[in-house]
Amino acid sequence: MTAAVLYQIQAIPEKRLFEVKCTILNPDPGGQKVLLPVWIPGSYLVRDFARFIMRLQAYCQEKSIYSQMLDKNTWRFAPTAGPLEIHYQVHAYDLTPRGAHVDNTHAFFNGSRVFLQICGQENAALEVEIQAPSDPKYHHWRVATSLETAGATPLGFGLYKSSHYEDLIDHPVEIGEFEVFDFEAAGVPHALVMSGKYKADLPRLKADLANISEHHIHFFDTPAPMKKYVFLVQVLNEGYGGLEHCFSSVIHCKRDHLPKLGEVKVSEGYRTLLGLLSHEYFHAWNVKRIKPSAFLPYDLTKENYTRQLWIFEGITSYYDELALVRAKRISKESYLELLGQLCTRVYSIPGRFRQTLEQASFEAWTKFYKPDENSLNATISYYTKGALVALALDLLLRHKTNNQCSLDKVMQIVWQRFGLTNEGLPENVFEKIAEEVSGCSLEEFFNMALRSVEEFPIATYLELAGIILNAFPATSVEEMGGKKPSELINKPLLEVKLKTGTSDVHLASIYEGGAAEAAGLAPGDIIVAVNGFKVERSRFESVIASFAVGEEVLLYVFRRDELMTFKVTLRGGWLQTYSLMISPTLTEQQQALLNSWLQLT
Ligand SMILES: [Zn+2]
Repeated sequence: MTAAVLYQIQAIPEKRLFEVKCTILNPDPGGQKVLLPVWIPGSYLVRDFARFIMRLQAYCQEKSIYSQMLDKNTWRFAPTAGPLEIHYQVHAYDLTPRGAHVDNTHAFFNGSRVFLQICGQENAALEVEIQAPSDPKYHHWRVATSLETAGATPLGFGLYKSSHYEDLIDHPVEIGEFEVFDFEAAGVPHALVMSGKYKADLPRLKADLANISEHHIHFFDTPAPMKKYVFLVQVLNEGYGGLEHCFSSVIHCKRDHLPKLGEVKVSEGYRTLLGLLSHEYFHAWNVKRIKPSAFLPYDLTKENYTRQLWIFEGITSYYDELALVRAKRISKESYLELLGQLCTRVYSIPGRFRQTLEQASFEAWTKFYKPDENSLNATISYYTKGALVALALDLLLRHKTNNQCSLDKVMQIVWQRFGLTNEGLPENVFEKIAEEVSGCSLEEFFNMALRSVEEFPIATYLELAGIILNAFPATSVEEMGGKKPSELINKPLLEVKLKTGTSDVHLASIYEGGAAEAAGLAPGDIIVAVNGFKVERSRFESVIASFAVGEEVLLYVFRRDELMTFKVTLRGGWLQTYSLMISPTLTEQQQALLNSWLQLT
């Protein structure tokens, strides 16, 4: 053992757990303290990972050592005269990019779930021995990770290493059967690791991903900050999401979203997948290397507050899809459709009049990550509104400077000053840099966009690029927008959101100020009949749409186990969807802006 700390980890598929042994060469002579993070960077919720730890026992030279928990995630061991060995199990049955999961199909872990942090040795060199499950039927499994090898052969079990704890937990590990597709982007070796069952055009995915990766590297400038990069993609029947790391990302991909063999067009599902991969990869710069000061270093024992998540998630959400059109993976019409969907998502949420973008960021831990039946009325997403503000800022800077300056330029300067230097980005400095780089006064813009709940006037900014924002009455609260509807009929729509995954008309949320609220309906209510006739979820919106706007209907509702009736006067046109189109008559300035923004040639 050459490092200060050695972790040995082995999956036990039948028990859905990892066995871990942690050996500390020189434990604290006063009694070693260890802790497990309560959250994982990139996902801003206290998750208390220590609750998954079982059977923790410690030894020194085979003698049992007394340990005591000091709080929910910290342990202290009695002083020892030699190396301290801590044995424990980790229950691992959370199949998410931020989780740890073991079954007979694979084993996957994030370090923050399984590796104890050794207090006082946070910056010591570490080694990890990843062992094959003991049952021979798993001996063909391989290991995919961006961890550096310390003797393990490529994709093999064995010894890996890390320079310090925060780095160690930034390299998730996938163990199992998978395919690997290697490619280079701007000279940097990348690997696309595909786990799970699928039948798809992977060479196409690999080529598109290489193109997008290359685009992002050139966006921030070469050389890329990573020596290698690994996309760990887990293919599932359902699921969407990812988590970013410095040298890798974990992606949950819905099987239907993979490009089909023989298909040439970019399906909506495939566009979603490319956007997700692009998003997590952009994070390798924006949030993994350019970080808010509040994350330097991360405090893994509690919430880390920042008002800047709109920069790290909103701006990333803006560039993930913009990169697809700039890298010629999708057409400009397809990109405008995505922007129409973005507008629809932001402008359908009453919470936009209740929470500012800075508040949304600051309260991420307790609001965005703990959604409830009232979130719709009380909160706004720093992803979607953040992306809309990024779009507006980009167009505004281009317009004011004759395309000499842009959000691209601002991000590149932020990268040079706060990413390459590993300095944290202090609160409000981003705004000063945007003003400095562009020479424009942006105080009014930022005050409105970040610190007010005024309606954000995106149409005004789109117009600078000659883009027209069209609004249409929605015929379902689930409508995505982005396209001009096939029929423009103003049908009544009950001002409620329905719970998914049930055949009941189960009310999940009630829109503030709407007719359903005025009638007295509440979240949790189950509508069983309309005007005396039974109704099911699959037909509910069409039943409501069969009435006229302004008509009064009688709803029969179970609230808990009590049958009640409510009279609702139906409204239409209260919810809108948006689509974007390029004006048929562009001024020279609009055309120039459009060309430089979308990099049309
Ligand atoms: Zn993100």
